[in-house]
Amino acid sequence: MFFPLKTKQPTEPSLPQVVRRASCPRCRSEVPESAKACGTCGFSLSLCEAIFPFEAPPLSLIVDPSRVVPPGIEKHLARPYKALRKRIPQVDICFCFVQLQHGYSVEEFAFWLFNTAPGADHSRAWSLLVTVDLLSGQLSLTSGYALEPFLVPESWEASLQELAACVGDGQWNEGLAGFLRDSRDLLSSACYVARRHAQAHQYAQSEAPGTSEDFQEVTSPVRPSCIPPEQKEHDQPAKEPITTGA
Ligand SMILES: [Zn+2]
Repeated sequence: MFFPLKTKQPTEPSLPQVVRRASCPRCRSEVPESAKACGTCGFSLSLCEAIFPFEAPPLSLIVDPSRVVPPGIEKHLARPYKALRKRIPQVDICFCFVQLQHGYSVEEFAFWLFNTAPGADHSRAWSLLVTVDLLSGQLSLTSGYALEPFLVPESWEASLQELAACVGDGQWNEGLAGFLRDSRDLLSSACYVARRHAQAHQYAQSEAPGTSEDFQEVTSPVRPSCIPPEQKEHDQPAKEPITTGA
């Protein structure tokens, strides 16, 4: 069953809310990479596995368990996806579209999927997952631990909101291709910072991804390791509950 997102109407200023995940998907506290559970709220992967007692699908460019994405869309995305991988071969990206039942958190779902999807162990550290809950209209950006410190959430917000708006309008090709193009530049910046950081700390070069081009086009200052405290807006107008008939 396909459920349409809100459409991009001129009189409807509220875009789907972009959910940021800095560390703990539940309480946003910073959690050490090695910690088994959040020290503040107790959230953990095993708790997540109890919430989502399914077998996670493997990560791929499009993860679409509910079959809501128009078939054959990968063909339309081949060019921007190839361009992204060519620029930054080590970083992979995937999109997951789901319809979560009321009360389930897209951030927790994304955390669960990212960490339990089979077959991605070696690449997960540098992977990026964009999860879209088509029912709530919320998005979550999840990245591997190696990449996360170098992603600046504010830099991604406009691209995520544009993606959400396009998906809401049913413009899947435009939204996803545009996001892939944006990601190429944003990830280039992130990887540039990551590589500089690795060099500064004399890590093995293989720890940090390079890009296939010089970084001369990267002009925007990127601040590493300064993910700001969550600025969740509590004053959003209450939305009409969505009924699906399901
Ligand atoms: Zn927590």
